[in-house]
Order: sequence, then C-alpha cells, then structure tokens
Amino acid sequence: MMENKVKSPHKITLFWFREDLRLSDNPGLFEAAKNGSVLPVYILDEASSLSFKMGSASKWWLDHSLRLLNKSLDGKLNVYKGRSKDVILKISQENQIDAVYWNTSYTPWHLENDEEIKVILEKKGIECKSFNASLLWEPSKILKTDRSYYRVFTPFYRKGCLQAPPPRTPLPKPDRLFCIKDEHNQTSLSDLNLLPAKKWYQSLESCWKIGEKAAQNKLEIFLDQHLKGYKEGRNYPSLSHTSRLSPHLHFGEISPNQIWYEVQTKSMHENLEKDMDCFLSELGWREFSYYLLYHFPDLPVQNFQRKFDAFPWEENEILLSAWQKGQTGCPIVDAGMRELWQTGYMHNRVRMIVASFLVKNLLLNWRHGEDWFWECLVDADLASNSASWQWVAGSGVDAAPYFRVFNPILQGEKFDSQGEYTRRYVPELSQLPNQYLFKPWEAPEDVLKGAGVVLGQTYPHPIVNLKKSRERALESYRCLSGV
Ligand SMILES: Cc1cc2nc3c(=O)[nH]c(=O)nc-3n(C[C@H](O)[C@H](O)[C@H](O)COP(=O)(O)OP(=O)(O)OC[C@H]3O[C@@H](n4cnc5c(N)ncnc54)[C@H](O)[C@@H]3O)c2cc1C
Repeated sequence: MMENKVKSPHKITLFWFREDLRLSDNPGLFEAAKNGSVLPVYILDEASSLSFKMGSASKWWLDHSLRLLNKSLDGKLNVYKGRSKDVILKISQENQIDAVYWNTSYTPWHLENDEEIKVILEKKGIECKSFNASLLWEPSKILKTDRSYYRVFTPFYRKGCLQAPPPRTPLPKPDRLFCIKDEHNQTSLSDLNLLPAKKWYQSLESCWKIGEKAAQNKLEIFLDQHLKGYKEGRNYPSLSHTSRLSPHLHFGEISPNQIWYEVQTKSMHENLEKDMDCFLSELGWREFSYYLLYHFPDLPVQNFQRKFDAFPWEENEILLSAWQKGQTGCPIVDAGMRELWQTGYMHNRVRMIVASFLVKNLLLNWRHGEDWFWECLVDADLASNSASWQWVAGSGVDAAPYFRVFNPILQGEKFDSQGEYTRRYVPELSQLPNQYLFKPWEAPEDVLKGAGVVLGQTYPHPIVNLKKSRERALESYRCLSGV
C-alpha cells in the first residue's frame, strides 16, 4: 500500500500531524491522500508554544503515540524539532511540496502560528488547507441570536450546539495512502528527547495502552461494559464507569465525532438514553472549554472575571508542596494527588475535590493547580484544564458559586463510602475503619493504634483546619462579590 518515492509524478502534499495522531476519521489526511503522495510530518515546536510547552506526562504519552503512528505509516512518519514555520518552509522547498494540509488545533498559539504559515505558503504558490478534526462544532459558528458568544454551558450546549447542524459523520481511513520520506531529514523520534533520563514514568507504563488501536478498543469496551450506568456511576472513583478516553481525545488518537455517533447507536439499541445524554453532555463540556478558549484566549492565564485579580490569594510553598505530594493529611485529597502522580490521571469527582481544597481551603491561586495538573496529567489539555480550574475557583464564566466549598470528608463518605479508592492510594490508612477513614484526626487513640496509624509519623496531621479555612474562604469570596 505505501510506497517510498522521493520524486512523485503526482502532486505531493505535506500532511502535518498535530493533535490528530490517527488514520481513521482524519479529514486533513483523507483529503491529502486523494491528491497523490503524502509526506507525513510531526514537528515538536517548543519555540512557538512558549509558556505552553507540554508537561512531562504529556511528553511521555506523545513519545509512545508517535512511535505507534509511525508504525501504522510503515515507518514513513517524518519528525522534526524547531519553529514550525521555519520547518514547514524548509521541507516544502527541499521536497517540491505542492500543498500543505493540517487539522486545526484550537489553542491560541497554534491558531496564530497557522495564520502566519498560511500567508507565507500561499505567497509561495503552495496550496494550504485546514480542516476540523477535533471538535464537534466550530467555535466561531455557535453564537447567540445577537451574535455574541455563550458564557453559560447549558444554553451553549442545548440551544447553540444541539440546535445547530449535527456534527460531521466520521470518515474511514484513506483507502490508498502513498507515503513518502523526506530524505533530507535526519531527525529520529529519539532525537525529540521526549523522555527524561530519570525514568519516573515507569508506574504510568502499566496504566495505559496508547495509540489509535488502543483508543478504538477502549471505546468498544466502554460501550459494551460501562456506558450502562454511566450517569450515576461516573461519580464514584472506585468504579470504572468513566471512559478514560480523555488522553486519547487530547492527542487525537480517536475523534469526538466517532464517539458521538457510536454512543448514540449503542444507546438506541439498548435503551440507555439517560446515560447517553449524560455522556454526550460531557463531550459537550469539552466543546465548551474549547469554545471559551477560542473566544477568550487568555483563559489559561487570566481570570475571566477580572474582579478576581484583587482576590487575596495566599503564597505558601510548604502548603503547595504538601498538596502536590499528597501529604495534606486529608485522605481523599491525598488519594487524588497520589493517583495523579502514579497514573497521570485523576477521576473527575476527585479533580473537583482536590481543586476546591487548593483554592478554597488553602486559598492558593488556581494557577498553581493548573500548572501542576499540566505537568502531571496525561490528558493535560489547555482548554479543559484552564476552564475547569477557573470553574472551581469561581473566576470563570458559568463558575461554581463561591459558597460551593467541597467538604472533603463528606465527599469521601458519599462517593467512596467503602473507602476502596482512598485505601488504594493511601495504604498507610488501609486498616482504619470506614468511620474514621476520611477524618483520621477524630479517631480515638486505640483505634489509631489498632490500625497502625501514628498521626504526624505514618500519616500527616491535617495541614489546615477544614472548618476555619472554609469560613475564611467564604469571607474572602464574600468581600470580593460585595455580598
Ligand atoms: C480541576 C480540573 C482540571 C481538569 N483538567 C482537565 C484536562 O487537563 N484535560 C481534560 O481532558 N479534562 C480535564 N478535566 C475534566 C475531566 O476531569 C476529565 O475530562 C475527565 O475526568 C476525563 O476522564 P474520562 O475520559 O474518563 O471522562 P468521561 O466521564 O468518560 O467523559 C468523556 C469525555 O468527555 C470530556 N469531559 C468529561 N468531563 C469533562 C469536563 N468537566 N470538562 C471538559 N471535558 C470533559 C473528556 O474529553 C472525557 O474524555 C479537568 C477537571 C477539573 C475539575
């Protein structure tokens, strides 16, 4: 199927892979393949991404994903390191490229960069086309009747998206894909140096299967075994009701369009309407995050509500470090932070608990949490991460109301009532009875002793008083809101 031709009698199209590391339902690749020969390219561009360079867990994922993509392209993936504008121009000149195609990445630095590249290439007479492969609806097309953009999720999703023309139906893999190598390029995948010298990522290796094929399998298993009961089950971190498709979606190993339509087909056959609606609306939250980022490109760095610029955040390295290490003395928070460190993932319910703890109980700026998640998550995503942090902090659009301070004891007792999740990640408390698992500081001495727990030695004392810190947060938020 794939030929190694440097000079093709046909048109040569450079196809630029970005966050679309798949062959199926890849509109840009599909169109490129129709033209003749395709020179498939991936560029690690840390010069243009500036402060949004990928975190370590993302790089680990990317390394594996590129290797698998290269395999499915019969070793014809061409990889480069450098400023994408310069690299694309150089490849185009050296390989007599006729056209350059890519799928849009909706992060602000990509959009800016792409515009510039388009202008330069078109001036040189090279055809340039971009496609939407990562979102169900174009953010620029979903607007209110007055042409302004939505700021609240429910009307955005129900009125804006669901009443707009339905998402594009998925495409198959290109049936004829003639890939060529850039013989001028010496860079190998290992030269991208995505993996650090210190193998901290070993624990991640056992948690994930990466790549397009793994993503397809995961969707299939989710539809067969976990979609039924999703609406309720998605709240419980010890259950496997969530899909864990987020890193695959982020790197584009699977398209949201394929998921959107397959979930509906499955639900129709099995009467799973409530679970389906709930799951599709989670994809809707992903759309909303990108939508917000598109219309408010400073979302990752600036409070959406500018009054939060005056919020009296604390600066405290010791508290921040205890939170990052899962040593806060608050068991469900520590379980979440350790899950993140060990697996590169954290269950959504627990993400909300640990985020609320950071910004409300510790009163630390949401950007510290955003940065740590960016570094540690395998699904780190500029849109979802910044929108979610601002949502929890209350500084975003459609944010959680300021008085919503998650109580980590009640959250643990409700959503991990048998303590399975917490015991898995905080094994030093595993012998504590459920009654005290989420508040070991209230356990009588003999109970602690019987469970082998010595507070301050085997497990930390809580770094903050939950009741007092809640009141302090409410007071700070109240002052800001003028309530
Ligand atoms: C503080 C905080 C930070 C977050 N950072 C990220 C991030 O960097 N990357 C990321 O993908 N998600 C992020 N989320 C959203 C959410 O936690 C994850 O998308 C979800 O846990 C992924 O697990 P899943 O694939 O099993 O989800 P499922 O429940 O199976 O949902 C299916 C898909 O819907 C999307 N989705 C689900 N919930 C949300 C949501 N609340 N916001 C946006 N999209 C959603 C994801 O793409 C997910 O894969 C964050 C949430 C919080 C509270």
